[in-house]
Amino acid sequence: MPTLGRLLLVSILAAAPAQAQAQVAHLDVDLREAPRRLVHARLQIPVQPGALTLLYPKWIPGEHGPTGPVRDLVNLRFTANGRTIPWQRDDEEMFAFHLQVPGGVSEVEATYDVLPGVGDGDFSAGSSVTPNLAILSWNQVVLYPEGVTSDDMQIQASGRVPEGWKWATSLPIARSTSSTFESERVSLTTLVDSPVLAGRYLKAYPLGRIDGVDHELDIASDDESMIDVPDSILAHYRRLVREANALFGAHHYRRYHFLFTLSEHVDHFGLEHHESSDDRVPERTLVDNSLRVANADLLSHEMTHSWNGKYRRPAGLATPDYEKPMHGSLLWVYEGLTEYYGWVLAARAGLFTPDQARGELARDVAVFSTRPGRDWRPLYDTAVAAQILYGSPTAWSTLRRGTDFYDESTLLWLEVDTKIRQLTHGARSLDDYCRAFYGPPSGAPKVIPYTREDVERALNQVAPYDWQSFFVARVDSATVEPPLAGVAASGWKIAYADSSTDYYDAIETLNEESDLRYSLGLRVASEDGKISDVVPGSPAAKAGLGPEMELVAVNGRAWDEDRLKDAVKRSAKGGALDLLIKNDEFFRDVKIDYKGGARYPELVRLKGSTDVLSKILAPRTSTSPPK
Ligand SMILES: [Zn+2]
Repeated sequence: MPTLGRLLLVSILAAAPAQAQAQVAHLDVDLREAPRRLVHARLQIPVQPGALTLLYPKWIPGEHGPTGPVRDLVNLRFTANGRTIPWQRDDEEMFAFHLQVPGGVSEVEATYDVLPGVGDGDFSAGSSVTPNLAILSWNQVVLYPEGVTSDDMQIQASGRVPEGWKWATSLPIARSTSSTFESERVSLTTLVDSPVLAGRYLKAYPLGRIDGVDHELDIASDDESMIDVPDSILAHYRRLVREANALFGAHHYRRYHFLFTLSEHVDHFGLEHHESSDDRVPERTLVDNSLRVANADLLSHEMTHSWNGKYRRPAGLATPDYEKPMHGSLLWVYEGLTEYYGWVLAARAGLFTPDQARGELARDVAVFSTRPGRDWRPLYDTAVAAQILYGSPTAWSTLRRGTDFYDESTLLWLEVDTKIRQLTHGARSLDDYCRAFYGPPSGAPKVIPYTREDVERALNQVAPYDWQSFFVARVDSATVEPPLAGVAASGWKIAYADSSTDYYDAIETLNEESDLRYSLGLRVASEDGKISDVVPGSPAAKAGLGPEMELVAVNGRAWDEDRLKDAVKRSAKGGALDLLIKNDEFFRDVKIDYKGGARYPELVRLKGSTDVLSKILAPRTSTSPPK
């Protein structure tokens, strides 16, 4: 609802440049108590007398949901000219605070604390500080006037980190000392888009300059030894930067920082920005081969977003502020195409071996070959409902589908890629669409929104085809058949072997589970034997097993992962699968009727076909470092 304060602010922002100079808000953030999970902030914001509504950012870019941690905003106080101004939270919108600005007041000062990630927030609202590092997401420490777009609000931010810590960011910095920094005057959009990684142990690695623009890997960890990255690994990240630029043919950033956090005490995820990404993984990711492989495509995914998601953005996600709800219906492009190229670029950069890259595709094919939820919920609905599907439990994932628009879209865009190659007899590929849609000219960050029709039109210019009907069949329609035509067209098919691929093992390690979905039809947590998921129609389902039950014993002996896997393997030679199951406090013997032995997905060559997949995954640039 418009308020007097909002109307006045809008008119102020439209005022002359000299006057606009006075309209800059100042935000100062103190991270010195971050290890105590306490962050202090002070915001000076230009105002006019009258009613004023200040908003705390609610819909967070890249998180596709109302995930702003407003519950963790405390100790909120407003003053003007040294006098307290009372405030009142809106009765309906918990992210809005109403004030009455007294006559003669031109600036209100807000002070508040934020309790970063001590609750159960999602993504950046999750755990973000440890005794040794902190990730500052500016949306968590700022308020902005209702009715002002994030592009229009001008702000200058400063910060102070604990003594002896270092910091890294893509935020344009005007002045700094070893423990403080002050930004240039930027829009609220740029500020929120430019998180800061601070840490006691933090090291910056240059990844190369392309067309005058620097790329940097900034690594922070709780363990000092983890920030020493071997050259062999750095070489892949340098190639990633070159491969991404070769793919798109331009960039839309003035610098690029991977803010890479290796810690057991932060939430693990990646969050994209125009000029950086906030990448958080387990502490041993760069020294443990399984963890490294399982996270090999995280940085390539997040960097791809600088083009697909940040520069070009679905119109429904290109909102003017952090209050307007986002529409996720094109997330199968925003996240889906990014998931595809995150995988492709990881292979082109050598972060995946070809075998590991095929291992990931094999896993996607297997997952969607046992997805009865496709029969009721089209891909489209998983995108529209993303805001309620992130963080869904694993239980009955095959029925629920969750945020399937990531992995299923790898299959979808592989089919688009191979279709373009077929239609043009190998002359063009999805790479050409990327260059046309996301490419030149290079420049500073900006957003060009797009619609589904824009995507179809651009594809049509690369390879004329009825792309509209193509997507209707695969995105809008509920059908249990997964989109596997691209896998066959790439020259490969799924097969099931009695041993698992490197990639499969890596994901089991990362998820801390035994994934027996393709034999017994269940997933079991490594730690306590809890069944996290059962595939409908599988031998485990037919035996009456379901999520949340616990596996206590296998063939009369206490459960452990190896015993269970050995028993599954021996089933091929007639071995028994007699399980003792605990369901809440009730115990039950369960006999699984299964003789199929171990079954793990892998890709094998389709006889008589061309190996298009290897062409897709091959580097575009020289694999030796530039001179
Ligand atoms: Zn993403």
